[in-house]
Amino acid sequence: MGLQHGADSQNRSRQTSCKQCGICCSKGGAALHSEDLLLLQQGLIPRQNLITIRKGEFAHNPITDKVQVTKAEIVKLRGTGREWTCCYYDPDSKCCTIYEHRPLACRTLKCWDPEKSLALVETDLLSRLDILEGDESLQELVRKHESSCPLPDFTLLVTALEKEQANIVAELEVLVNADLSFRNQAVESSELVLNEELFLFGRPLFQVLQSFGLQVFQSGNCLRLQWARK
Ligand code: SF4
Ligand code: SF4
Repeated sequence: MGLQHGADSQNRSRQTSCKQCGICCSKGGAALHSEDLLLLQQGLIPRQNLITIRKGEFAHNPITDKVQVTKAEIVKLRGTGREWTCCYYDPDSKCCTIYEHRPLACRTLKCWDPEKSLALVETDLLSRLDILEGDESLQELVRKHESSCPLPDFTLLVTALEKEQANIVAELEVLVNADLSFRNQAVESSELVLNEELFLFGRPLFQVLQSFGLQVFQSGNCLRLQWARK
């Protein structure tokens, strides 16, 4: 692995332009920054193609190259199906289908010279409330979801599960089902909310918890959790 890393570094140092390999787009859609608001306002990037990583979720930090807790919410281009590959990436042509109006982070990225794109990380990010400015009812819906369905402290989760598994699993089941019930009510009342669910509320909590080794199963109308130590 060390040798491979060395070879990568050498290849990078020789690279001077984009080879259109698509690796960056397959790692996930770009995070949006203030400058990208115009693209949304002009309808070039619809909200249904966005996903929110809520503050406190874990995400890959390109600066440290580690998966770390996010200090602010990140609104980004959603993936394709269950994959993180950007929904605007066409694997057949290996091209960006919105190349002319791709977001700032994509225009800035030079994998062979990452200084400028690293400077954008967690800087001047667009939030859901920024994007929804002028739509008070959707802003209120987002706020209500945040207050009634808070995220658990993921930094303490595994330690807490190791210490008192039964209690923590029970607490998480309450949160998971509250989150699901909130979403169900919201999407039933509006097709727009249904289409924009991942942007408005982020990923359902039960999905987020799966990466911590919590298995999810249905029991009647509720979701139950089981922790399988990783
Ligand atoms: S910026 Fe780099 S990783 Fe992205 S497509 Fe170009 S060469 Fe590939
Ligand atoms: S918008 Fe285009 S360049 Fe940016 S991540 Fe998606 S496919 Fe890649």
